[in-house]
Amino acid sequence: MKKRTISLRCPTCGKIVLRSEPEFPFCSERCRLIDLGKWASDGYVISTPINDPETGDCYPKPNARKPN
Ligand SMILES: [Zn+2]
Repeated sequence: MKKRTISLRCPTCGKIVLRSEPEFPFCSERCRLIDLGKWASDGYVISTPINDPETGDCYPKPNARKPN
């Protein structure tokens, strides 16, 4: 019986990935997330948090609620 290491190419970057890799069949978590994002954006739009430099709404406004 032949026992060989199973490997695939990372669908994102094409790098050889061994079955023993934690993110198999991706070479890294980054590539896995990229691939997931590709599938997700194909079907529907995800609202991604964008820090608009013009409005500066990247943090809660401090005067929203005042302690009495
Ligand atoms: Zn990769």
